[in-house]
Amino acid sequence: MGHAERDHALLSASGAHRWLYCTPSARLEEPFPDTTSEAAEEGTLAHELAELKVRNYFYSVEFGKRKLTAAINKLKKEKPWQDEMMGYTEEYLDYIKGVALAMKSTPYVAIEKRVDFSAYVPDGFGTADCILICGNVLHVIDFKYGKSPNGRVEAEGNPQLALYALGAYEMYKILYPIENIRMSIVQPRLSDGISEWECPLEELLSFGRYAKGRAELAIKGEGEYAPGPKTCQYCRARGQCRARADHDVKLAFSDNLGKLPPFISSEEMGDYLRKGADVTKWLGDLQDCALKECLAGKEVPGWKAVEGRGSRDWTDMDKAFDTLTKGGIAEDAVLWERKPLTLAQVEKVVGKKDFADAVGEYVVWKPGKPALVEASDKRPAITNKVTAAEAFKEDQV
Ligand code: SF4
Repeated sequence: MGHAERDHALLSASGAHRWLYCTPSARLEEPFPDTTSEAAEEGTLAHELAELKVRNYFYSVEFGKRKLTAAINKLKKEKPWQDEMMGYTEEYLDYIKGVALAMKSTPYVAIEKRVDFSAYVPDGFGTADCILICGNVLHVIDFKYGKSPNGRVEAEGNPQLALYALGAYEMYKILYPIENIRMSIVQPRLSDGISEWECPLEELLSFGRYAKGRAELAIKGEGEYAPGPKTCQYCRARGQCRARADHDVKLAFSDNLGKLPPFISSEEMGDYLRKGADVTKWLGDLQDCALKECLAGKEVPGWKAVEGRGSRDWTDMDKAFDTLTKGGIAEDAVLWERKPLTLAQVEKVVGKKDFADAVGEYVVWKPGKPALVEASDKRPAITNKVTAAEAFKEDQV
């Protein structure tokens, strides 16, 4: 089955981070259609390319070089194709090769395997990107093509991978004495794009029991709503969900004013930021939703859709420039701007390895602007305060 045509179960593995915690969301989302985006289409194509490469590596007899090249040439004609996909999928393949080579013997490998986890979740199925089994180890690897550092997905306790692992365990437990579960997420477009986690089988089965209970509630549309930035982010009901609206309105318009000291404390600052993380997103989703209603001719009291600010564009830029140069305007000096590509763009054109070999010595790392992130972020904390060691070093100079 093509990556784009896959069925979606009501309780899908990819939506598990939502329905496991906000059980009524599965039914609430139902009337809203699934929409796709450019990024999703790009991801689908990258997955198809990744699958071809992994297939060629492990099953080179049935799917040799010639078949691989023909299949890649076909993908290159697809609209979302970008040459950089070749390098990113190579990184994914390299990771899988490394895992396979580190195993005690040649592993069993399943690529793009449909796994059935309906023993835990009614009608639950999904497609695992890559499964490797060797001895008592079951390793599930997932490829993600997102490029936003904020969208980094962690393998630890990841419910999507855990459901795939449960499905794979059910499928292979008769053939292999599985006792250890490993899960990896490879996001090659991020600089720190590999996340790994390992747990004993009992921990996975315990998650399976928890998921089973939550799925029973979700399928009936019961349980508590659990609005929050991560849970609501991709929920199709996010613009119209009352639970989320009530939650965010309460956070944004708390009625404590006047009863407390005039300045909020650092503790309160942290608390507001954490609790209010969803408020801005919610307002954006609400605007999108109201715009759709207005464009569909429905009334949203107090609001209307208008044409946004337009911009001028050439009907024929070449002819316009030609006319200007004939009129005495210097083409190179005035009409065109000569700009160098950014470092990242040059690396993309040259390729990561050749770039590092050729000009790596001319690259320095400039620290980014200080940014506020949650305490759970993996990066070390920084301050402007001079440490005793730094002060002492300065005195020595
Ligand atoms: S928008 Fe949020 S709170 Fe509402 S159903 Fe979806 S996940 Fe739950």
